Amino acid sequence: MASPTAVLLDLDRTLIDLQSFTDYGAALDDVRSLVGSWQDVQVPDTDWDRATVACMSVLHAFLDDPRWGDISDAIAAHERVAIAQSELMPTVADARLTLASIPTAVVTLLPADVAIAVLDYHDLEIGREIDFVVGRDPRVKPKPEPDGVLEACRLLEVSPEDSVMIGDSTWDAQAALAAGTAFVGVPAAGFDTAVRTQIGTADTLVQALTEVGLRE
Ligand SMILES: [Mg+2]
Repeated sequence: MASPTAVLLDLDRTLIDLQSFTDYGAALDDVRSLVGSWQDVQVPDTDWDRATVACMSVLHAFLDDPRWGDISDAIAAHERVAIAQSELMPTVADARLTLASIPTAVVTLLPADVAIAVLDYHDLEIGREIDFVVGRDPRVKPKPEPDGVLEACRLLEVSPEDSVMIGDSTWDAQAALAAGTAFVGVPAAGFDTAVRTQIGTADTLVQALTEVGLRE
């Protein structure tokens, strides 16, 4: 493919690992005490643990419910306390100049304020390495739906077809492909054979940026 005009990035475990330090089990307990039980929506397989999937799934299930904000806040409290333990993913520090030189947006299941705080904690700044953050928002259907990818392209004023998304999970891949955006999965081992026929793969962010022609 020709070099993309914009790069869309997943946050968790693509730029920064916050997820490994977030107690989604405790978050789920808080959600249960808030809303009781609920009917899970069908979501694709990932390598996430059950509590993480359940937290992302409940946000999907309550999209049109007035309690969505309280549920999101309950989960966000646990995501926020993990920021101080979070770790930059391999080669992200080396990719700073490349990211700063091209239009970029983060498309994440984290709330935008938590995403911006954790990016800032690792010296990835809005207006420098990252131009926009499309975060958890009841008006934007979450990944694996394409809505966040399309919203990021709208903000960047680029077409989905001229962009590339880089992410670590099948949810990222499905969201990108549904939007008509090329996708590079990092690392390759996170994607099963069926998905790999439709995407590029790389071992690191720097390799992914190189593969799509954005670095020498
Ligand atoms: Mg991720």
